[in-house]
Amino acid sequence: MDTDVAIIGAGPAGLALACALDGSGLRVTLLERAPDAAVADPAFDGREIALTHRSQAILRGLGAWDRIPAEQTAPLREAKVVNGASPLALRFAPGGDGEPLGRLVPNHLIRRALFETASGTQARLVGGRAVTALALAPEGARVTLDGGEVVSARVVVAADSRFSEARRRAGIGAEMLDFGRTMIVARMAHDAPHGGIATEWFGHGQTIAMLPLNGAMSSVVLTLPPAEADAAMALPPEDFAAEVTGRYQSRLGPMRAVGTRHAYPLVATYAHRFAGRRFALLGDAAVGMHPVTAHGFNFGLSGAEMLAGEIRRASDPGAAAGLLRYASAHRRATLPLFLATNAVARLYSDDRAPARLARAALIGAGAVLAPVRRVIVAGLMDAPRATARG
Ligand SMILES: Cc1cc2nc3c(=O)[nH]c(=O)nc-3n(C[C@H](O)[C@H](O)[C@H](O)COP(=O)(O)OP(=O)(O)OC[C@H]3O[C@@H](n4cnc5c(N)ncnc54)[C@H](O)[C@@H]3O)c2cc1C
Repeated sequence: MDTDVAIIGAGPAGLALACALDGSGLRVTLLERAPDAAVADPAFDGREIALTHRSQAILRGLGAWDRIPAEQTAPLREAKVVNGASPLALRFAPGGDGEPLGRLVPNHLIRRALFETASGTQARLVGGRAVTALALAPEGARVTLDGGEVVSARVVVAADSRFSEARRRAGIGAEMLDFGRTMIVARMAHDAPHGGIATEWFGHGQTIAMLPLNGAMSSVVLTLPPAEADAAMALPPEDFAAEVTGRYQSRLGPMRAVGTRHAYPLVATYAHRFAGRRFALLGDAAVGMHPVTAHGFNFGLSGAEMLAGEIRRASDPGAAAGLLRYASAHRRATLPLFLATNAVARLYSDDRAPARLARAALIGAGAVLAPVRRVIVAGLMDAPRATARG
């Protein structure tokens, strides 16, 4: 099979790139390990993605935003970070124009909308086939699929998750920061109103976040040592609800579990390079963020927009100059927040006494963390008008 752009991975980043290449005249082929049906109609995976205003605009431009039912998205009006029993909180709030920080959108609906959009383009999906080999040569690339079929491409884009096999096959290493924790995500119904405020609460031995969904419902994000997470995953729904209610100290009243629970290992990754010979990395395969600052997919979308621009402008979509421009621009756009996020995550998940003291002091002093907060909020709003309050 011959193609111009082979995209490995039809997750949200790979699909977004396929959509962004619509109308370019290039043949685009998505190579995906999961079967076609799972790509077309992805199951709920527990992730509620906080989409920035810029990401919403990119999705709108691609034609995907209007495919997401508006009533399934929820405004994120404010975010606050609480440390242990301290009454003080770090607050992230938008400017005074009433615009929310962003919108929370279920990941599977983003994926479905992007798939529907991509289906209306020239892009072709080859589902149910894993990539087993990759050869990158100056004149072109060859991707081998299980079953032995070879796809010849002018450029290969790997969007095959933070544990990208294609990245490794291309000889590109990555920084991997394993936090030694597992995140459990699940929807919880409750009686008290959340006011559209997301809360990240760093208790001792646990981190618990509540993301405000529509109505009296929140998404709990519970970060625990793996053995405790396994035990929590094994609880019957009522016991899990009681566990979350207790861990959250009934701040939203008694909770009831709604739907399925999902567990994710907490590992942040950052590729050493984002481009190689006839090869580029996109989405989590390039930058696998710690979810605490809610930027992973936002970076995937802005990266897809940037890479599509370079590929469209080049006479050869695999030409080194365009891929390198994408690589350095995407690095500049992501590295400061990747480092700031890890610093915050490490400080707040460390239960040793010096770290506990340090974060109490930092939250108390408020202003000390202002640069980090500014980066985070400006990233969320994609604008300098956001404010961060102590
Ligand atoms: C709990 C949680 C909460 C999050 N919250 C936010 C948030 O609020 N805001 C935000 O911006 N981001 C958030 N993220 C991050 C966001 O979910 C990811 O950044 C995004 O899903 C990455 O998309 P992707 O397409 O790069 O990778 P993935 O979604 O991992 O998709 C990769 C695709 O590649 C396929 N694949 C893998 N290997 C192969 C292979 N060898 N051959 C073929 N196909 C292959 C997989 O089947 C999959 O379809 C969160 C993540 C988690 C875990």
